[in-house]
Amino acid sequence: MKRRPLWPFGSDTRICVSLGEPNTVALREQFDHLEGADLVEIRLDALDTLRDLTRETLTDLVMNSPVPVGFTLRPMWQDGGFDGDELDRRRFLEEAAISGAAFIDVELDAEWAADFLDDAQCPVVASHHWNSARPADLSQKVERIGKLAPSMAKLVATAQVPSDSLPLLSAGEQLIMSGQPATCFCMGEAGKASRLLAAGQGAALVYAATSVGNEVAAGQWSLRELVDEFQMNRWQQGTRLCGLIGHPISHSLSPAIFNAVIQEQGLDVAYIPIAGGDLDAALDLASEMDFQGLSVTMPFKDEIALRSTRQDDLVATVGAANTVVFENDGFVAYNTDGSALVDALATVRPVERARIAVVGAGGAGRAGASALVAAGADVTIVNRTEARAKEAAELCSCSGGGLQQLEVDVFDIIVNATPVGMRGTPLAESTPFPPKWLSGREVVLDMVYQPPNTPLLRQAIERGCTTIQGLEMFIRQAAAQYRLLLGDPDVEPLRAMRNAAEHLLTNELSSHDD
Ligand code: NAP
Repeated sequence: MKRRPLWPFGSDTRICVSLGEPNTVALREQFDHLEGADLVEIRLDALDTLRDLTRETLTDLVMNSPVPVGFTLRPMWQDGGFDGDELDRRRFLEEAAISGAAFIDVELDAEWAADFLDDAQCPVVASHHWNSARPADLSQKVERIGKLAPSMAKLVATAQVPSDSLPLLSAGEQLIMSGQPATCFCMGEAGKASRLLAAGQGAALVYAATSVGNEVAAGQWSLRELVDEFQMNRWQQGTRLCGLIGHPISHSLSPAIFNAVIQEQGLDVAYIPIAGGDLDAALDLASEMDFQGLSVTMPFKDEIALRSTRQDDLVATVGAANTVVFENDGFVAYNTDGSALVDALATVRPVERARIAVVGAGGAGRAGASALVAAGADVTIVNRTEARAKEAAELCSCSGGGLQQLEVDVFDIIVNATPVGMRGTPLAESTPFPPKWLSGREVVLDMVYQPPNTPLLRQAIERGCTTIQGLEMFIRQAAAQYRLLLGDPDVEPLRAMRNAAEHLLTNELSSHDD
């Protein structure tokens, strides 16, 4: 076997932006958006003008890109856009290889792959993509990579659930440990976490999109997310892992605010969101990859409490958890929503002996009510479904009733613990109860924090109430999670978390204004 060109980009994980544009003008426009990228992969099969592409055009692209350029011409039999002859495809790639390319991507199953590698004028990535999860022939592909010894190996399956990534991550680990530069992960929403986990394993490349919405393959992170939010270049083998499970979580602020504190403190930790609606699969991935613990959000808060091996007092009372910490044979479940609500209210007035209505009898309402009772408040849970309020009230040792109780009884504090008013939902412009029921003397806290000023808070301000945004509770529950997950009692994460959350919410608001 001939000696192959070595992978020239070292053993650190590099960010490679994938570009799939219809023409060279559009490609060159994208070159202005590569700040933070180490390399760029041009998907020649996305071009409308492939037949007219000359060596000069390819060289021109290479010369004008701010970062080294690799070329891929994915055939239809690997779900690409090229439907021509294999000999033509090989000729295009040979031209690309002598145009100054940083690498050429060649499919492992191309009949001419071994010859191409033998004659290669530049590094070659040997790749295989499956549009299914858990491919039966994964080990054969790993074996073939061992025989071909390409400059870099890329194996990609498509995850249906997060744990589908485990075989690919294990293959990646095996290749990397054997000295073969490689990147192995899963595509798809459920595979998003594996792209980050591969980076933590020492994968040669993580493929990124120039921006959200510009993904060339399903599940790609944007360049900004990898560079600014995750600061992925700090990760190495042995970096401690924790993260977030829930569904959907693509709009969660938790990754941004956790990573902001992790960066501020210079910790060797990665906080990774695991997307997907299958709780078992998310837990499998997290425990197999040795996560220390997880933040847990909807819809898993009740189910995770049931599965925990141990629970804190609040979880045992209300049956809902928002944090888990892994231990030998399972995990401990905690709930930080309750103390966060008490602390957020205490910034405005003492809760002891205050008459407080908690609107909503779900996990957050129950946790908040129980913690307020423990803090000495006189609590009533009111809910659209009265029977559910009564059940929750029994658990939390307080009163319970229908929403109308807000009209007749007098409360010092009213807490919204329903999703009514949340941006992006059909109830975004609604309030959980008629605002005319407010006297103007109440303190009103809305647990909904997107948008920061919900319809309920706007109406409460108009009526003269003191208001507290949901963000105040959100950053406090996250700060308490941070201490549980990372066990660092000396760090005060609130300021960094608040800054990161406010920055994101402001940017989101302005992008919504566009
Ligand atoms: P959940 O378990 O699904 O409970 C939702 C509650 O809202 C239920 O009692 C439900 O009433 C009620 N509800 C739903 N739609 C309603 C409507 N259209 N009108 C009146 N009531 C309605 O949710 P959760 O986990 O408790 O969370 C509730 C909210 O708090 C969510 O928006 C969540 O994002 C937010 N939250 C914020 C923080 C924070 O830190 N700021 C922390 C935790 C949660 P029924 O019983 O009648 O269905």
